[in-house]
Amino acid sequence: MMNESRKTIWIRLAVVLFVSVLMVSTASAQKTKRKKAALQPPPPPTVTAEELKELNDAATQSRENLITASNTYRQSLERLLALQQQDEKRAAELVEKRKQLLELGIIAKREVTESEQLLADAQAKSAETGKQLESVDHLVAEVNAAEELSKLPPEPQGTFRSTGMLVRFVGLSRWNLSDFGKVDAFYRLKFSKPLPVSSFGQSETHNRLGFNHSNALDVAVHPDSVEGQALIGFLQNQGISFIAIRGAIPGSSTGAHIHIGPESRRISIKP
Ligand SMILES: [Zn+2]
Repeated sequence: MMNESRKTIWIRLAVVLFVSVLMVSTASAQKTKRKKAALQPPPPPTVTAEELKELNDAATQSRENLITASNTYRQSLERLLALQQQDEKRAAELVEKRKQLLELGIIAKREVTESEQLLADAQAKSAETGKQLESVDHLVAEVNAAEELSKLPPEPQGTFRSTGMLVRFVGLSRWNLSDFGKVDAFYRLKFSKPLPVSSFGQSETHNRLGFNHSNALDVAVHPDSVEGQALIGFLQNQGISFIAIRGAIPGSSTGAHIHIGPESRRISIKP
């Protein structure tokens, strides 16, 4: 009898050992052969405290890289904007000069029109760069907001949460970027002007900085303004998810905007 039960214990131990070895080898095989792993169901995830710390460190690192990349990009845009503004100033002076010459009958009307076109082109370029700068500020604000949100417990649909820096609403409606029309229609009806969109879907800025913003749009209104409050009320009423951000950093409203759609995520980590 005694021998039999000992035998059973040994067999059980051997089975446990075998299964453990099998799990460890499966895990290491999956690390090296990711393509194969897709064909089999992965083992249940077990994250140790140490691994969790590593993951958090990697997320912080990734955030810092993104902020550094954003700042570098921002500086290059600022330099570009300074040059474009100089072009704009020169173009405006040329228009004035040619208008005077036209009055004196020295040049033809066509030459004034040409200089006016040059000025319009220069103004369009500066405006585009200004918009890109705004887009970077909004992105930095979203990265910081994502960090703040990651510290909060996951929220069920239909919940509304407001912290010092942001307001998040997880809506029940399925959102698609093409639903933009109804938000714009509401805004036009309420404020007699189009929705001030600063980023629509995936922009060049998002591509450059490796951020997935493909199903979201940003609206350049402060969440606490009359426009912001009306928009927040409408989105909540329609069950549309949004994150309203009061600024990129506490105490400054730079980067304040309302992000409509699912939360943006990082798509690649650049060194
Ligand atoms: Zn956004």
